[in-house]
Amino acid sequence: MHCFEHRDRPAVGVCRACGKAVCADCVAADCPGIACASGTCAERVRGIDRMLDLNLRLMPRTERLAASAERMSSTTARIQATMSGAGRAVYLLNYVIGLATFVGGAVVVWKGIAWEIPLIAMLGGLLALIGAALTIVGARAGRAYRAAESTHSEGADA
Ligand SMILES: [Zn+2]
Ligand SMILES: [Zn+2]
Repeated sequence: MHCFEHRDRPAVGVCRACGKAVCADCVAADCPGIACASGTCAERVRGIDRMLDLNLRLMPRTERLAASAERMSSTTARIQATMSGAGRAVYLLNYVIGLATFVGGAVVVWKGIAWEIPLIAMLGGLLALIGAALTIVGARAGRAYRAAESTHSEGADA
């Protein structure tokens, strides 16, 4: 292989920027690897080396960023799961308390417990009403929760 400029001289290597063969006279000094002394090749090769250095220095930071992003998304998923669990507990509690209150109130009224004391009978009726309302609210919340959960899991599957 001979120099691209001096066809009679042997080449010492190939320029990293343009790929042409260069002789000892045509090779740039203080350049990482082989580059043409004339033109912009040496500057371009130095630029390539600076980019590689920067990439190498940034790599650990990039990896740390990726790792923290992954941690954040897993934390978000955990919080979502916890919130979803709390939502289930709230509507179940609502439902159970509502039913218990309704049954308790209904029993007080139906059994005629202390009909002689109208206040307690009224309280029983009120309890039954509140219980029915709570039960309906709980059942609605449960239906909404299950609907949201099913669309959520469908989204996750897709
Ligand atoms: Zn040459
Ligand atoms: Zn070159």
